[in-house]
Amino acid sequence: MTETMTQPVTESANERVAINGDLEFVEELLGAGAAELKYCYQCSTCTVVCPITPDESPFPRKEMIYAQFGLKDKLVSSLDAWLCVHCNDCSTHCPRAAKPGDVMNVIRSMSIVHFARPAFLAKAAQSPARIWMLFLIPMIFIAAVILGLPGRSALGFLPGTIVFSKMMPVAAIDVVFLPAIAFAVVTALLSIRGFLRSLAAEYPRTESGESLPTAILGTLADVFSHRKFSECTTNKSRARAHAMVMYGFIGLVVTTTVVAILYYMNQFGMDAPVSPYDFFHPVKVLGNVSGTLAFLGCSAMLARRMSSGKSGKATAFDWTFLWVLFTTVITGFGSQVFRVFDLAIPAYGIYYVHLVLVFFLLAYMPYTKMGHMLFRAVAMIYARWSGRAAVQPVIRDGQVKYDVQAES
Ligand code: SF4
Ligand code: SF4
Repeated sequence: MTETMTQPVTESANERVAINGDLEFVEELLGAGAAELKYCYQCSTCTVVCPITPDESPFPRKEMIYAQFGLKDKLVSSLDAWLCVHCNDCSTHCPRAAKPGDVMNVIRSMSIVHFARPAFLAKAAQSPARIWMLFLIPMIFIAAVILGLPGRSALGFLPGTIVFSKMMPVAAIDVVFLPAIAFAVVTALLSIRGFLRSLAAEYPRTESGESLPTAILGTLADVFSHRKFSECTTNKSRARAHAMVMYGFIGLVVTTTVVAILYYMNQFGMDAPVSPYDFFHPVKVLGNVSGTLAFLGCSAMLARRMSSGKSGKATAFDWTFLWVLFTTVITGFGSQVFRVFDLAIPAYGIYYVHLVLVFFLLAYMPYTKMGHMLFRAVAMIYARWSGRAAVQPVIRDGQVKYDVQAES
């Protein structure tokens, strides 16, 4: 089946519409976790119960139609797919168990694959059969750096006190991780550029749009307060776990950044403390509290996703990020514990695994759930800026609602 025009086309004055869908894309959607899509009979219950959809051009029913017809262009450029918070209230009420919440989730993954550069990395990151290749790259690269460091034998770091910088000096970490971060930033910018162009074509700015600073600040307030989740019924408890993962992750990034800054201050002759820190040192406390938050949040989210039911099904894309983050935290704590108990081989071994996982999180950021966060943040800002979602709290039926304004 070849890809053809994916927009409804008016054929004549009597408004007949020809729709040429992309059936390969429909097959992809079905195989990527939206298999129940075919049960949908367009009753629109999902759109009625969705707590955040706008009154005009609402979702997710229209996305279910687009998906059944294979309108790929409409779906990969869908702003509404990114406004959906995957609360699954729609799936709970769907009389056909078509799981529209999961379909929206799969559409977001497809959107990332469509815009990601280079696309083959995004496809590998979302393929259970190929994702191992992405782990193999840092495994080989980091092992080669550790074993090939000049001035010592391959395993010369093992004897004596356990100090991780003996195995992987900061300079070697810079050599491995700074290019990985630069790669992630450049590819993320390229991916977002294509996404923004597509949004601009589909959703021109209207008079009701906010200024860019207001749109950015409003989006940050939405993200940090998790207030959209307060509208959910089915997945309300997910908000807590999601917030723990988010704040834990941010705390770990801040900790790593502070450690790096203190290290370089020290290198430039300033009196700054460097790793390893005492257990009650503020940097250590921040790292451990953040790690604990991320651990608890990931555990709760993994437990939810392992249980079946109407709370929504996770795709390989969702699983990978959660497991990688979870094992990154576990290996971070594990390497500390083995260091305290002076067990060199397990301590260095787990630290190596930890480095591989951190590389995965950083270098492949645009293709994983982290890229998903980036796309969502950009979409939320765009929605406010364009006027599609200038969210204003209103009181309705005695409850605070954050309605999305209609397009002008
Ligand atoms: S997904 Fe379910 S609730 Fe929504 S239109 Fe289809 S059948 Fe109705
Ligand atoms: S998952 Fe929630 S936010 Fe998304 S379309 Fe369904 S009801 Fe709306």
